[in-house]
Amino acid sequence: METSLQLKGDHMVSNDHVSVNAHNHLTIGGKDTLELAREFGTPLYVMDEAFVRAACRHYVAAIKTHYDGKGLAAFASKAFCCKAMCKIAAEEGLALDVVSKGELFTALLAGFPADRMLFHGNNKPADELEFAITSGIGRIVADNINELEQINTIAGSCGKRQSVQLRITPGVEAHTHDYVRTGQTDSKFGFALQTGDAMRAVQMAVRMPNLRLSGVHCHIGSQILDVQPFMLAAEIMTGFIADARDQHNITIEELNLGGGFGIRYTEQDNPPPHEDFLHSVSRAISGVCSARNLPLPFIYIEPGRSIVAPAGITLYTVGAIKEIPGIRTYLSVDGGMADNPRYALYGSQYEMLIANKAGAEKTKRYTVAGRCCESGDLLGKDVPLQDAAAGDILAVLATGAYNYSMASNYNRLLKPAVVFVNNGAVRVAVKRQSYEDLIQSDE
Ligand SMILES: *Cc1c(COP(=O)(O)O)cnc(C)c1O
Repeated sequence: METSLQLKGDHMVSNDHVSVNAHNHLTIGGKDTLELAREFGTPLYVMDEAFVRAACRHYVAAIKTHYDGKGLAAFASKAFCCKAMCKIAAEEGLALDVVSKGELFTALLAGFPADRMLFHGNNKPADELEFAITSGIGRIVADNINELEQINTIAGSCGKRQSVQLRITPGVEAHTHDYVRTGQTDSKFGFALQTGDAMRAVQMAVRMPNLRLSGVHCHIGSQILDVQPFMLAAEIMTGFIADARDQHNITIEELNLGGGFGIRYTEQDNPPPHEDFLHSVSRAISGVCSARNLPLPFIYIEPGRSIVAPAGITLYTVGAIKEIPGIRTYLSVDGGMADNPRYALYGSQYEMLIANKAGAEKTKRYTVAGRCCESGDLLGKDVPLQDAAAGDILAVLATGAYNYSMASNYNRLLKPAVVFVNNGAVRVAVKRQSYEDLIQSDE
């Protein structure tokens, strides 16, 4: 009998893909994690492909249901970028966000159509812009005046007219648990709406001969657990499109609302179903449109984390366990900040369990430490866990986003493999690095 884990919430996409089998072992996508650890070694990233595909489909369906299909979901590939993932996004009919030539190169090699990609970033180098333009990229999201001029020049010299969206800071800043409406926008990204910079950029862009101003874009934050800031941003941005028409007779057809939809990392997080984001945002947009007699813009959303984070887990082998009486007990694993720097960077919380005792009660608390030569190399402090011993397999849940993509070779550790499971089938999506890979660029 399979027991479900406490991580379950009333998401649109449920967490049924992680479960416990009759051996008391954690399973993912119908595979026993102990077998995966034995076959592929640890540390190991495991992604449930069926979950990823279901999440893609939910976004596509939600745009259909709540916005008449007048929009596109673009997977933000920085959350998890490899050829296999780009292929999945293409097959599921998503568009794709890239933020560098490296991500663009990966996606092109995976066969992702260039015209369905958007290129982001606050400081894109000229050679990367040129590569993107000559590759036929669908949209460049221009961040500043200097970049608009550069895109115009490069597109001209390539004999192309490049479609752009303008990145705008709408003055809504969303944090994990709350949001603020800022008067003066302080961000390295985009044109501020309040200062008039955004409208000046719109006027400038439409005058540049080698650009086509397709739309405006905003991205208000990440791991947002509340629909309110998205509604506010959607209202402000739609109002801005109406202002551009009324004040300057400029038509802006596309509204890109970015990503940032939150997920449940621990039971403290209560994200609304992703469907609610779409529902509320489309209500906000159509409200402004009917008040101002504006046609509905074509929308883009750019989910990254919410498509891949819950789909992934990381498996480690437990090594040293050190109890400091009256203080805490350290449990060390064979990975750490090199494969998951998120605790060291942001203090991110994760749910963990001992994969070979997954059905047992969590009676202990351990501070889970990595193997890097840094005291800050932790994956969590005083984490509730089953009673652990050396040789056990530790599973960290919801590591599918911003783990593999943030991994480094610090301490010359090899980057782990990524395996995809899909209803009991297994395939390697990214091979474990080899020592040859490690020294490949050394002269
Ligand atoms: C990071 C990013 C996203 C994705 O954010 P998630 O929180 O992973 O959904 C989308 N758009 C832009 C511009 C981003 O920088």
